Amino acid sequence: MRSLILTTILAVTTGPVLAHTGAVPAAPAPSPAPPQAKTVEFKLQKLTDRAYCLYGRGGNVGFLVTDAGVVVVDDQYEEVAQGIVDQIRTVTDRPIRFLVNTHYHGDHTGGNPVFIKLAEIVAHDTVRPRLIEYPETIKTTFPEKKRRIEEEISAIREASDPYRAALEKDLGLLDFILKDALSFNPAKAAPPGLTYDRRMRLWLGGQEVDVMHVAPGHTDGDSMVYFANEKVLHMGDLFFNGMYPFIDTWAGGSAQGYVTNIDHILALVPPDTKVIPGHGPVTDVATLRRFRSFMSDLIASVDTAVKSGKSKPEAVRSITMDQYPEIKPTFRTLGNEIAVAYDEIISAR
Ligand SMILES: [Zn+2]
Repeated sequence: MRSLILTTILAVTTGPVLAHTGAVPAAPAPSPAPPQAKTVEFKLQKLTDRAYCLYGRGGNVGFLVTDAGVVVVDDQYEEVAQGIVDQIRTVTDRPIRFLVNTHYHGDHTGGNPVFIKLAEIVAHDTVRPRLIEYPETIKTTFPEKKRRIEEEISAIREASDPYRAALEKDLGLLDFILKDALSFNPAKAAPPGLTYDRRMRLWLGGQEVDVMHVAPGHTDGDSMVYFANEKVLHMGDLFFNGMYPFIDTWAGGSAQGYVTNIDHILALVPPDTKVIPGHGPVTDVATLRRFRSFMSDLIASVDTAVKSGKSKPEAVRSITMDQYPEIKPTFRTLGNEIAVAYDEIISAR
């Protein structure tokens, strides 16, 4: 049940935070629905005459309706994929021509077995091997990662210690990813058939769709997708609106990469662009810019901690980001973000 991976993680590990995320308009993806649920309540948001955001269960779906067909970005889970198609059918009967996977995570690619019969699936080069081969790597490497984290946790006595809390979140995630990999069926993989390295443009019905990979951020295969004529941008999971990001360092993610990606896109899109985050409600460029500041301020704080000789646990215990109260913990704590930035700074030395 590979496609269920992040819903399972989000559903099981977010706990009370779901109440918060459920309070924002157009319910974001961290859904309390159990993974075996077959139905989902979709919410379709029209952004322009041709561009839409569809909220369901999993990463936000964006789609563009052109006179020559539809371009879809991300497809949530297999069991809701037909529902996504049905939602698209409520606004157009044009064929679905392309599906872009913004990255490999199962809550953005789970619908591929359905969409592969309808459309060409497009993604960054690394998404294809991650969908086909990565589960095997997880099976062989994650037990040792788990063991090391368990060892670290057992050495911290204080139950409310923020570093211990961050480690426990990591352990929970590793556990779910490992369980998911163990049940992975390679025969069911529906990987992208069209992959690219840095940038590709899809031209359809007089519309330009700009698909860009700038640097590893959320994973090593992130795409940002810009519906240029409509001024609508899908950030994939390089942007969670109102939540701490999940920097998937196990799949090549990077804290600094978030800043690099956002700087790149901010230089490209006009200020009145509508922004679809991977999770959370559609927002604007100003909110994306603010998230960029959060990431750069976080990295700067960790850098200061490293320079003053603090250990990683000391950095986690001492840094707060109180100036960004709107960015909340979910299945990631601030400690997880600090720990990632800390490891990155140390390894770059
Ligand atoms: Zn993701």
